[in-house]
Amino acid sequence: MKNQAKILLIYTGGTIGMIKDYSSGALSNFNFADLLTYIPELQLLDCTISTTSFDKPIDSSNMNIGFWVQLATIIEENYNQYDGFVVLHGSDTMSYTSSALSFMLENLKKPVVFTGSQLPIGDLRTDAKENLITSIQIAALRNKGAALIQEVCLYFEYKLYRANRTTKINAEHFEAFASLNYPALAESGVNLRVNETALLVPESDENLIVHKNLVSGVVLLKMFPGMDRDTLEYMLSYPEMKGLVLETYGSGNVTTEEWFLDQLKAVIARGIPVINVTQCSGGSVTMGMYETSVELKKMGVISGKDITTEAALAKVMYLLGQQISPQTFATFFETSIRGEMT
Ligand code: ASP
Repeated sequence: MKNQAKILLIYTGGTIGMIKDYSSGALSNFNFADLLTYIPELQLLDCTISTTSFDKPIDSSNMNIGFWVQLATIIEENYNQYDGFVVLHGSDTMSYTSSALSFMLENLKKPVVFTGSQLPIGDLRTDAKENLITSIQIAALRNKGAALIQEVCLYFEYKLYRANRTTKINAEHFEAFASLNYPALAESGVNLRVNETALLVPESDENLIVHKNLVSGVVLLKMFPGMDRDTLEYMLSYPEMKGLVLETYGSGNVTTEEWFLDQLKAVIARGIPVINVTQCSGGSVTMGMYETSVELKKMGVISGKDITTEAALAKVMYLLGQQISPQTFATFFETSIRGEMT
């Protein structure tokens, strides 16, 4: 028997693991252990596949920190026995979960590939088969005895992305995800073309560390014209707030009205980190470029640069759990630690 890669498939829930009851039209979860019945092609892959599943698969809209920890623990407990992991997850919050896992899994040297589908596996026109089969092939790729991909990534509709660079951009198209600030890691056509120069290269030889202390109490505030002063005051006075992600206009701009800036200053004075991310899908925050972001820079708002909102939220929760000083927090946030910013 030749040395085949061993892959663990982890089913968390979502459309990909569902079948349609053609008499009622309703979608329900199928028994994941019967996967081969639905995709017999899996037997043709040059790797050994084992499966495990959340006890009660969830729609990814119900994702939370507890489930992230559960998923990270499954990977931790199986890390030495497998060469790669494929996580089946609903597409709705896949970018959030996969971003969170990228921070939770430090010194990762094996691929963790997230995938899902827009149509259930039993549907005639399903995108689930291609997504699943190619994700497994990617997780099994080797290079000189080591895994070729050593990071958390997301595969959907012929493209492999760095997970913490992705955003769900379409609720209907098979091409549901985009990574506007970082190139695809691989593209699947007649051949599977890996963009090796874009892959994350582990910086240390240390063993995997799984960080499970993520801190909740993070608030996401999206700027919009017409924002009301009282509502803002009410939101920002939340006593348990631990971090604030501010989704700003364009390259990091906000209104220059005094009441708004004063309230932000008050948050910073409470020792709460405030992060500036752009609400544009692509591009970067550059504080100080316009007059409308100069004050933010002066008051000590942290630049999220070209990070996605999904990755910014996960990174705040992760860094808050590290119990570091506000200075170190700001330095770490503005530095790429898992390839999440340029
Ligand atoms: N609502 C589903 C979920 O995110 C959609 C999907 O599976 O893609 O779990």
